[in-house]
Amino acid sequence: MQILDGKATAKQIQGELSAEVQALKDKGIHPSLTVILVGDDPASQVYVRNKERACQKVGIESRTIRLPKETQEAELLSLIEKLNRDPDVHGILVQLPLPEGISEEKVICTISPEKDVDGFHPVSMGRLLLGQDGFRSCTPYGIMELLRRYQLPIAGQEAVVVGRSNIVGKPMAALLLAENATVTVCHSRTRNLGEVTRRADLLVVAVGKENFVGREMVKPGAVVIDVGINRTEAGICGDVNFSEVKEVASAITPVPGGVGPMTITMLLANTIRAARRACSV
Ligand code: NDP
Repeated sequence: MQILDGKATAKQIQGELSAEVQALKDKGIHPSLTVILVGDDPASQVYVRNKERACQKVGIESRTIRLPKETQEAELLSLIEKLNRDPDVHGILVQLPLPEGISEEKVICTISPEKDVDGFHPVSMGRLLLGQDGFRSCTPYGIMELLRRYQLPIAGQEAVVVGRSNIVGKPMAALLLAENATVTVCHSRTRNLGEVTRRADLLVVAVGKENFVGREMVKPGAVVIDVGINRTEAGICGDVNFSEVKEVASAITPVPGGVGPMTITMLLANTIRAARRACSV
């Protein structure tokens, strides 16, 4: 059984990205990311701080704009429009969730698709579905990169994705399909879930429920990717019962140290890509 070490892989990729950033800086291009954080959600504050740190590590210029939770939607939208026009800003990310009264959909749609480093804009999602060049949502993109670096097969595999959110499940399914997997997407209305997940050679779980997938739901020899981040008294744990499933899987991601570090690394990759595109290099 192989542990898919997202932390080590992320570190390796970040080393490559640092070199890329340096090469861009030598050409006078300084990749930059602006993060907007509205309100004081504690988890969001941690995520934003981690993003700032990751940017610093690879030499991306990062700026965080912190706004009070009372911020009006119109104010936020006009800030995004201003950042869209600013040639020194290559990537824009608005940390979700947003306080009540601000439409996430409107906010996402206001970010220029050329600066949409989270890959959530309908144009980015459309490009993904059509197989066109564009920003990929960081979590599924990170999972694909992890699979690639471990040289795990995708083409022709039975892939099952549990969860159909716009940020994880749906783009994950699209990316696996693009790599020629046979993809099934499950959700809360799926009947006989265990029967479906037991068909999977590659099982991706993004449900948000602690220990949701036990060994009886996994085919012996399957590759299991655990996207879940659940805060429990014992610390952070995933959606997969790791100690049980590692006994049957051929490879599995741990939580923490699996998908999480890959997600943030792909945000860096997307920001560098945005800078390259903006400067046509
Ligand atoms: P959402 O809550 O948006 O989606 C959860 C999905 O799980 C939904 O599609 C839902 O189905 C499905 N689901 C819920 N209950 C069941 C059930 N009993 N059987 C089958 N499917 C079910 O979550 P996200 O996709 O945003 O996140 C999922 C998890 O991944 C969370 O723990 C989150 O914290 C974590 N996460 C981790 C990231 C990382 O970097 N590691 C990044 C993003 C998220 P339905 O659509 O029918 O309601």
